[in-house]
Amino acid sequence: MEKLQNYINGEWVDSHSDQFEKVLNPANQEVLALVPFGNRQDVADAAAAAQSGFQEWRSMPVSKRVQYLFKLKTLLEDNIDDIAKTITLESGKTFIEARAEIVRAIENVENACGTPTLIQGEFSEDIAKGIDEYMIRQPLGVCACIAPFNFPGMITFWFLPYALACGNSYIIKPSEKVPLTMTKIVGLMEQLDLPKGVLNLVQGAREVVDSLLEHPVIKAISFVGSSNVARHVYAKGAANGKRVQAQGGAKNPVIVLPDADIEMTSQIVIDSVYGCAGQRCLAASTIITVGDHKDITESLVESAKARKTGFGLDSDVLMGPVISPESKNRVQTLIERGINEGGRLLVDGRNAKVDGYEQGNFINPTIIEDIPLDGELASTEIFGPVLSLVHINTIDEAIRYINAGKYGNMACIFTSSGSNARKFRHEAEAGNIGINIGVAAPVAQFPFSGWKDSFYGDLHGQGKHAIEFFTQTKVVIERWLKEWNRKF
Ligand code: NAD
Repeated sequence: MEKLQNYINGEWVDSHSDQFEKVLNPANQEVLALVPFGNRQDVADAAAAAQSGFQEWRSMPVSKRVQYLFKLKTLLEDNIDDIAKTITLESGKTFIEARAEIVRAIENVENACGTPTLIQGEFSEDIAKGIDEYMIRQPLGVCACIAPFNFPGMITFWFLPYALACGNSYIIKPSEKVPLTMTKIVGLMEQLDLPKGVLNLVQGAREVVDSLLEHPVIKAISFVGSSNVARHVYAKGAANGKRVQAQGGAKNPVIVLPDADIEMTSQIVIDSVYGCAGQRCLAASTIITVGDHKDITESLVESAKARKTGFGLDSDVLMGPVISPESKNRVQTLIERGINEGGRLLVDGRNAKVDGYEQGNFINPTIIEDIPLDGELASTEIFGPVLSLVHINTIDEAIRYINAGKYGNMACIFTSSGSNARKFRHEAEAGNIGINIGVAAPVAQFPFSGWKDSFYGDLHGQGKHAIEFFTQTKVVIERWLKEWNRKF
């Protein structure tokens, strides 16, 4: 059985820890590898390597640094199927979903190739007679990313290409549940011949996270995961003087107004709810219909029942398993809780069985109707293939529910009315808004803008925000003697 290693200072090395956990295929519990739960010494080694790699890397012109990213883009494109297969094996999502995730990662590499322009400073001539003032952006030093399980390949790329292009060195901490994908990608990145220490990877869980948050050499942390851990990372990182961006959990509501196109809405909403088995921070979870709802309800039920669940590498499968038996148990318990709160099951996906994959963590698409909007299910992130369907009378009531929620990752509306869409866009308290869109995932040029408990920090991942996050500004005020003499 393969024992995974850390990548430090340009070499694969054993962890100092002797604690290993199994990496499991969620479709059948096959053991894919053993991952070390790294410790403080692993982080110290990675931080020292990254610190020594930083000086050479930051001295290289940005136009040269992005040449590595151009090569990285080709590398990812050439190996996309192989990477996607690994994602499916360890995370359970379908091969098509896994491939799409890497396409999104590549988009971020492409966008970061524009860093020579994005990193440009500002210049004001003659702020006083003969005096000029300008602002330049310089890298922070050693930065690190802590990733969740649900996008084993993409999420690190919301940060990594920008951090490198800006001249920082980097430490990746993948989720211990899905460590194989970034291990494979870092293995491919060896072909780039980056200077030693610029790129490092440490396997592990809580001890590695806390060591990253405490290590004095590490200047910035990008975190993505559940809100409780995001809050911990934000507070502890800030207490240790670090720059932190911490993306948290979500509960994404979708309003369907009576003037929405039923067929289009139903298809898009179903994909949004059940894509990646609902394990997406931008999964639609509560669908709120306003006014007449008979047709949309029927259409959603029909589409949910038709969705085939199974092993993600089988060609006709549209939805894979959830990540672990514990996760399956948690989701099924939440469905039960929704029923106890008064919800009615229109489609019951519990206790799903897939032929040939009897040990898999499968839950079939589930729809539960009429849960109370002030109940527990309506406010809890389910992170599984469960659609809560709620019927109300006005758009104002729907917006009130959205704004009362603790999360603010995404909110969507389906309508053919421009003025209702505009009202929604203006009033809904969420950082990513969809108008006739089911998964309002910003492309690489835009910040991934969670609000409220979905994000702790200021600057988000991707785009210009990432350039700002991974640089510190330096303002220079300048006068030359000749100008001084000319003045007097
Ligand atoms: P998680 O919070 O359990 O784990 C995320 C990372 O934190 C992992 O690397 C893990 O090793 C580490 N970690 C876990 N518990 C820790 C602790 N007590 N102390 C220190 N570190 C700890 O999240 P997950 O289950 O891997 O991912 C699912 C969650 O991530 C969901 O809530 C989902 O909404 C969220 N998510 C958010 C976004 C976003 O953009 N806002 C994107 C993807 C996922």
